[in-house]
Amino acid sequence: MSLTDRPALSVVAPCFNEEGVLPEFVKRVGAVLDKVGGSAEIVLVDDGSRDGTWAVMGEAAARDPRVVAVRLMRNHGHQLALTAGLSVCRGERVLIIDADLQDPPELLSDMMALMDQGADVVYGQRRVREGESLFKRATAAAFYRVIGRLTDVEIPSDTGDFRLMTRRVLDLLLAMPERHRFIRGMVAWIGGKQVPLQYDRKARAAGETKYPLTKMVRFAIDAITAFSVVPLMASMTIGWIMAIVGFAFFVYSMIGFVLGYNIPGWTSLMAATGLLGGMQFLMLGIIGAYLGRLYDQNKGRPLFMIRDIIGGDRK
Ligand code: UDP
Ligand code: MG
Repeated sequence: MSLTDRPALSVVAPCFNEEGVLPEFVKRVGAVLDKVGGSAEIVLVDDGSRDGTWAVMGEAAARDPRVVAVRLMRNHGHQLALTAGLSVCRGERVLIIDADLQDPPELLSDMMALMDQGADVVYGQRRVREGESLFKRATAAAFYRVIGRLTDVEIPSDTGDFRLMTRRVLDLLLAMPERHRFIRGMVAWIGGKQVPLQYDRKARAAGETKYPLTKMVRFAIDAITAFSVVPLMASMTIGWIMAIVGFAFFVYSMIGFVLGYNIPGWTSLMAATGLLGGMQFLMLGIIGAYLGRLYDQNKGRPLFMIRDIIGGDRK
């Protein structure tokens, strides 16, 4: 295959300390690709693993010419490792999948069929999650609820990064230079025809989750801040309440002062703290409003994305 040739499909999997599952993963994905047919590549990204992941990838690449192994300089985290794989891959369609076989690669043919019917994105939506703790499921449910409230982007719930995308969507995704990437949200933001495919999420085939609580919290904060400036504006709401309460206090202490039942010094103190406190929150909120806009601008996302143009000879 020459450099300009595109395979019909790329499978991209980020891997962090996955030596235990990788051989099985490559075998199963390979079998699925054989069944689906067409040219394909399997892009494996070693996200700075500390175990034998890279060696296993080397063996897989030697055995299967479809395997492309990419090694990062250090651990960059799931979303950036995935981004690295996505920028390296060349397929006309791209399947994002975890290396731990929680997402069954066998769904590929169903996803391809939905895409043949015109979908730009087919995302896997989890019906059940096997082998995941109650805590993980509860926090995940809470997370999807919160982010659904805080943003206008319709980010589907119970959906990970497991999905099939067209090259057009992938190129739009890669054109977004933001550093803190919440990829499933960014893909939702792109729009087009996005279709769910329900599936049952399996337990890990081997190894342990690479998402301890600390990483999960960081991931959730990245997601919320990337898709909402509501927290930044929250001081505006508090500010309005405080300003009104503060003003009421001011009036109340003035009345007490005029009627002469205030302790000396109380009036000025209460009036000043009430008014100042309210004003400060309000000003913070205003700063938040500007900072939020600055942040949005700074993300450098495209202003619009054209799907089709009919007429003329523009491409
Ligand atoms: N992963 C990665 N870098 C990291 C953490 C995770 O590339 O720093 C990969 C990991 O190897 C797996 C995928 O991201 O293929 C999802 O991670 P995991 O299965 O541990 O998350 P969970 O399914 O438990 O949420
Ligand atoms: Mg997993």
